[in-house]
Amino acid sequence: MIDNICATCGTQYPQGEVPDVCPICSDDRQFVPESGQVWTSGVRLQQQRSVLIRQLYPEVYEIKVLPDFAIGQRAFLILTPGGNLLWDCIPLLSEQLVSFIRSKGGLKAIAFSHPHYYSNMNEWASTFDCPVYIHGKDDEWIFNKGPRISVWEGGEKPLWEGMKVIHMGGHFPGSAVLHVPSLSPGGTLFVGDTLYIARSRKHIAIQYSYPNHIPLPAKIVREIFDRLLRVGFDTMHGAFDFQNLAGNAREVLGASVGRYVV
Ligand SMILES: [Zn+2]
Ligand SMILES: [Zn+2]
Repeated sequence: MIDNICATCGTQYPQGEVPDVCPICSDDRQFVPESGQVWTSGVRLQQQRSVLIRQLYPEVYEIKVLPDFAIGQRAFLILTPGGNLLWDCIPLLSEQLVSFIRSKGGLKAIAFSHPHYYSNMNEWASTFDCPVYIHGKDDEWIFNKGPRISVWEGGEKPLWEGMKVIHMGGHFPGSAVLHVPSLSPGGTLFVGDTLYIARSRKHIAIQYSYPNHIPLPAKIVREIFDRLLRVGFDTMHGAFDFQNLAGNAREVLGASVGRYVV
């Protein structure tokens, strides 16, 4: 049993390279708990937690660790005839989850919004023998660089069947969103926490840090907003299970940015 998973963010470090304090959490976008750094192991996670698999659309499942572990994010399994995509990751790859994904045809690729969700990505990639797409501006945050990690550069990473990952920046230099045109009439965005849909579902924040409440300069928010306006979307799903905006996402984003950018 090797304690190489940070209990606060879920990042898994290579055996023998576990730092005293997790650099993802000691960065000013995250936090180390007041009681200090806590490590856990994959074995303990398998024993103490389970995985929720919930269908969001006929072709999309949200996947999440229960009870909540680390940041508490969800990943999305997106099924297409040309192959399946995992958007972001959760730190627990249970036997039940592997069987479920295999029953749907496995994974063609894994793509990430940003470093807070890398978790045990190499284990996922080797289990499903697929590449992991990460924006090159976040290269320095890859602490466990397995052979299947593929770094991409520039504004867009085209996938298949019209899906693409679009670079946004802001929260992290390489922060990105996933665009899936076929899920809703105007197109659907999966945003991780590049954008943060508020509990009211009437506001979307674009910040440097959400847990530490650190805003971004208005100029950067404007640039991200302009980039988003060039993308067709009416629906948006964030990293947490309350973050679903169906049909009105473009209007909510416009009103939100209008509050503090003129
Ligand atoms: Zn951490
Ligand atoms: Zn984050």
